[in-house]
Amino acid sequence: MSFLPCFLCGCKLEKRTSKTGKPYFVCDPCGIQLFVRRKDGIERLDELMRAAQKNAIPF
Ligand SMILES: [Zn+2]
Repeated sequence: MSFLPCFLCGCKLEKRTSKTGKPYFVCDPCGIQLFVRRKDGIERLDELMRAAQKNAIPF
């Protein structure tokens, strides 16, 4: 389970992929769209997701 919380409401941001293949996050209640456009950001996001998966508690 890996997600980023919305900085306004703390809800789980939904990860989506744009038409250009770049990841972005949306918070439906707040109407926030958070785009990760640069390669560095995408790499950091991948690292974050990997780290979160590694640290996830298996049920
Ligand atoms: Zn929100």
